[in-house]
Amino acid sequence: MAPTQQNGHAAVENGNGKAHGDAVCVENGNGHPKAWRFARAGSSVKERAMAGEGDKISIRAVRFKIMASVEERGPRPVLPLAHGDPSVFPAFRTAVEAEDAVAAALHTGQSNCYAAGVGLPAARRALAEHLSHDLPYKLTTDDIFLTAGGTQAIEVVISVLAKPGTNILLPKPGYPNYEARAAFNNFEVRHFDLVPEKGWEIDVDSLEAIADENTTAMVLINPNNPCGSVYSHQHLAKVAEVARKLGILIISDEVYGNLVFGSSPFIPMGVFGHVVPVLTIGSLSKRWIVPGWRLGWVAACDPNKILQTSKITASITNFLNVSTDPATFIQVKLNLYLLEGIQDDVDFCCQLAKEESVILCPGSVLGMENWVRITFAIDSSSLLDGLKRIKSFCERHNKKNLLNGF
Ligand SMILES: *Cc1c(COP(=O)(O)O)cnc(C)c1O
Repeated sequence: MAPTQQNGHAAVENGNGKAHGDAVCVENGNGHPKAWRFARAGSSVKERAMAGEGDKISIRAVRFKIMASVEERGPRPVLPLAHGDPSVFPAFRTAVEAEDAVAAALHTGQSNCYAAGVGLPAARRALAEHLSHDLPYKLTTDDIFLTAGGTQAIEVVISVLAKPGTNILLPKPGYPNYEARAAFNNFEVRHFDLVPEKGWEIDVDSLEAIADENTTAMVLINPNNPCGSVYSHQHLAKVAEVARKLGILIISDEVYGNLVFGSSPFIPMGVFGHVVPVLTIGSLSKRWIVPGWRLGWVAACDPNKILQTSKITASITNFLNVSTDPATFIQVKLNLYLLEGIQDDVDFCCQLAKEESVILCPGSVLGMENWVRITFAIDSSSLLDGLKRIKSFCERHNKKNLLNGF
């Protein structure tokens, strides 16, 4: 039999019940294989991510588990302070102009086709102009790749960079989709710390300590999710210098671009594009409160065209020619020593959901065990009600109160 024919029969039994070819392992007498090779348990990060441990790297999976702890629907509404999708609250509706523009585009009848893999030229041009306002050089249409939300932008960038034997540096705490996407690509991840005492700045020294000659990129999230911090020009400049020294590119997740607390200015990492190549990830989801519209982008902020020479941008184009959540938060570190009968942050969130119908996001899914994240992206009366319920929960579980018999 010619090899091609054999391959064509790979998963099929031969006449006497024996399977041959690559897909089948052993047959068990009744014509069925004892074990399918593709069903073998594996131990790679990818396999663990896809099987039982998916909930460790998925905010959604953990949130569903905590929601299931809310027992009966009492007189009080459930307060979702874990899930940052403010678009469901009337107070957070996007601009009428944006809705009108989308409706008008639909009515032309010209928007029902497939868009080109990297996006419609007019939209890419408009975005290049928009992003260039804050940069010391001009982006062109070719520097912009449109994606299905920030989530697909992460998928593209991580998939293109993942090569056997290489690794990427991610922030801790961080946005878990990076870990998940890296795991699905068997891309080794190394974590650097964000320092709470320094406004969640990057521990720049630790970058150099964990990187080696196989490190190819680092991820920076600014304004930061989950910490809400905004990095100064000085801090970004320092990070750019270190990345240049290490010879790695920076993936700057600016999905929260321009959404800052108080008067801190937002500085896009692309400002340092002449120091180090930057792939900027952006999205309409957060700033325009339309996560369901699924429009994001990757912008190559790289006036020296290093990404082009090294074929990264071509790989992004090729990849594209082939889902999602939160807004702004605070961190409340849990002092478990003071709380009776609570084991960890997930347990805290499950019991809180059960007793107070308030849903929070445990820090462990974001890389910070025994912290919790509370989103502000909800109408203010619900937020106040939620904080009140959290307070009474903590008072009830306070060890001191228990000793004093309340
Ligand atoms: C929400 C979010 C994304 C994903 O963006 P979508 O447009 O919702 O897919 C990426 N990165 C961070 C830091 C986010 O918070």
